Amino acid sequence: MHWLFSAATISGPDAAEGLSVWEILAWIGNVVFGLRFFVQWWATERQKRVVVPVLFWWLSLVGSGLMLVYAVHLRKPALICGYLFNWIPYIRSLVIHGRMKRAEVRCTSCQAYSPGTARFCAACGARVELLAAEQGA
Ligand SMILES: [Zn+2]
Repeated sequence: MHWLFSAATISGPDAAEGLSVWEILAWIGNVVFGLRFFVQWWATERQKRVVVPVLFWWLSLVGSGLMLVYAVHLRKPALICGYLFNWIPYIRSLVIHGRMKRAEVRCTSCQAYSPGTARFCAACGARVELLAAEQGA
């Protein structure tokens, strides 16, 4: 495994002494950022349709944030630019996801959640309009 860390290190001679705190931070950032692909893939396979779960956006935000910290530490403008604006679509997606979640209505028959615009429960077909009215939607 040492060969992997040696090959991936940017700091050169320091690699022989082990990973620095900054390199560990970068590896954690890479792993967190990389996990998002598996989370999205798993959610898609599970639902048999393309799905982007909210965890995908959190992993994107945290992973790229850690990488931005590392890039700033290295003072490499190309790396900094690569991560500087990523948070904008991630935060925006989290805000939109939160709004959608708050607008959902819960079916009184089967307790499944449906979009706030739904008139019928996607799971059992019961009307959900009355429940939306009860929730003040
Ligand atoms: Zn239902």
